[in-house]
Amino acid sequence: MKRILVTGGAGFIGSHLCRKLVGEGHEVVCADNLFTGSKKNTRALLECDNFQFLQHDVVQELQVEVDRIYNLACPASPIHYQRDPVRTMKTSVLGALNALDLAKRVHGRVLQASTSEVYGDPQVHPQPESYWGSVNPIGIRSCYDEGKRAAETLFFDYHRQYGTDVKVIRIFNTYGPNMDPKDGRVVSNFIIQALKGEDITVYGDGRQTRSFCYVDDLVEGMLRMMESRDGFIGPVNLGNPGEFTMLELAKKVIDLTGSKSKVVHCPLPQDDPTQRKPVIDLAKRELGWEPKVSLEEGLKKTISYFEDVLSHSSSIRD
Ligand code: NAD
Ligand code: UDP
Repeated sequence: MKRILVTGGAGFIGSHLCRKLVGEGHEVVCADNLFTGSKKNTRALLECDNFQFLQHDVVQELQVEVDRIYNLACPASPIHYQRDPVRTMKTSVLGALNALDLAKRVHGRVLQASTSEVYGDPQVHPQPESYWGSVNPIGIRSCYDEGKRAAETLFFDYHRQYGTDVKVIRIFNTYGPNMDPKDGRVVSNFIIQALKGEDITVYGDGRQTRSFCYVDDLVEGMLRMMESRDGFIGPVNLGNPGEFTMLELAKKVIDLTGSKSKVVHCPLPQDDPTQRKPVIDLAKRELGWEPKVSLEEGLKKTISYFEDVLSHSSSIRD
């Protein structure tokens, strides 16, 4: 059994990761400043002896004795990471530096939760890890995209310069229970709108594509990458190659919820990528990993989660 630090462990993906690691019997320390995460996500874990929550900002150093570090702390939804872009960049870059310094000091292994956003608005489709991306360095998404790119650079430089044991994953759009209903991501927005009978807000013409991975599949890939062979450091894409337009997603959500909601078109946000789909050959080969949950199956589980959330809250959008 290992002692494991999860930064951002009170967020959507982090809470699933913590639950899995605690279930396997590891000692888990979750460090989170609750910027977008919530203690509610880890409430059940707080009763476990092998789980500890630390309210901590990763911009500051953290001294803990651990074998493994999963570095997830960073707001992931555009409305949150654009709310305080300077803070987003600090979280990405200083958070990565602090995670790496800790790994170096304790001779531990550190995994960076990077993102498909490093490919920007990709000119190569689908995206293999060898593609360097097409990123606007000065736009409204740049604080996140460039912050994550700088973090990847730091991971590779610590590895080359100090021999730090690093792993880098590039996560493509992930969804599932524990998504924050108010963080504006497309899956949670569409499901909540459908369940409430409100208009489904498709941005732009809705022909832009994304590839959606169910969170259980992603967590399995993260665990495999963390325990992958020495010398394999990535970056490795983790995502579901099924590619859908936002109009197709809206239709699926309407069908699965049996909603009477209608699609309305809203302005497309600046620099919104037109297409995104991972090549996952490397993950298949190195990790023996590929997603198992179809979009329909994952959406059903997520819809049932949000039905439960809505039944306990009459004014979730307020
Ligand atoms: P999330 O916003 O739900 O979780 C992020 C967590 O980090 C939250 O609990 C938040 O409070 C915490 N956090 C933010 N700034 C912090 C700081 N300065 N110090 C300490 N904690 C801080 O997002 P998520 O979807 O769970 O994403 C987790 C990670 O995965 C992020 O690094 C994100 O960039 C990456 N990722 C997610 C997706 C996705 O589709 N969900 C895709 C690509 C990459
Ligand atoms: N989107 C949409 N309606 C919404 C929220 C998002 O059409 O209510 C679109 C958004 O413009 C983007 C896609 O859905 O093209 C995915 O958006 P999200 O914020 O979930 O993730 P990201 O853009 O970071 O991939």
